[in-house]
Amino acid sequence: MGKPTGFLEYERQLPQDRPADERMKDWAEFHTHYDIEHLRKQGARCMNCGVPFCHTGDPTVGGCPLGNLIPEWNDLVYHGKIEEAYKRLTKTSNFPEFTGRVCPALCEGSCTAGMNGDPVTVKNIEVHIIDTMFEQGKVQPRIPQKSTEKRVAVIGSGPSGLACADILNQCGHKVTVFERSDRVGGLLMYGIPNMKLDKKIVQRRVDILQKEGITFLTDTEVGKNYSAAKVVNEFDALLRRNSSEGFAGGRKKRC
Ligand code: SF4
Repeated sequence: MGKPTGFLEYERQLPQDRPADERMKDWAEFHTHYDIEHLRKQGARCMNCGVPFCHTGDPTVGGCPLGNLIPEWNDLVYHGKIEEAYKRLTKTSNFPEFTGRVCPALCEGSCTAGMNGDPVTVKNIEVHIIDTMFEQGKVQPRIPQKSTEKRVAVIGSGPSGLACADILNQCGHKVTVFERSDRVGGLLMYGIPNMKLDKKIVQRRVDILQKEGITFLTDTEVGKNYSAAKVVNEFDALLRRNSSEGFAGGRKKRC
């Protein structure tokens, strides 16, 4: 816990959005970032609760479904250790630049500080951490150091497909992602407007995943212009979306 009295000293504050008359003229994102001193105060509001409801890791209970280690990176942010916070954040989150922008922030809804006041600004801290690392050039492709020579097909390149592909690729498997649209990203690319999630941010991550070795086949719909039998023959394993349960495969499983 960074500052034991932080939650008593500092109010919850979010950075000022771009003025409405300015943002009406374009489609660009309208949330902005704090400077580091403001951010540290927001991190200081975290009480590192004995039972941190912000990250139960169980969406049926509440808190962050990814199991993000929220009090740990809040503490690191308070101490100005943004790169350490980034390392902690990416232990559980594949794409914080997406979740930090468009996640509904169940963590904040569950935050103990919200019981008799305002919750910690977890989502804003998250996006600040990852955007700072991108600005500083510290988010670079991580080329897998080993290969299992196993081929895995992932059907669909939405957020869960990309996360599965990322984890499997880092495990050393040869991953191919099939996408029926002309661009990669699914909901991220076609379902969320630029003002919330700029498509350049999605493409930036896709480019990194490509450099890390993942193959993306766009305009390719399994069962239509790419036969399902061919997929079964060519790959050792297959992941596809189950409409009620999301992707099969360990959500947080790491190598
Ligand atoms: S519940 Fe809120 S105050 Fe408690 S550890 Fe999580 S973010 Fe910090």
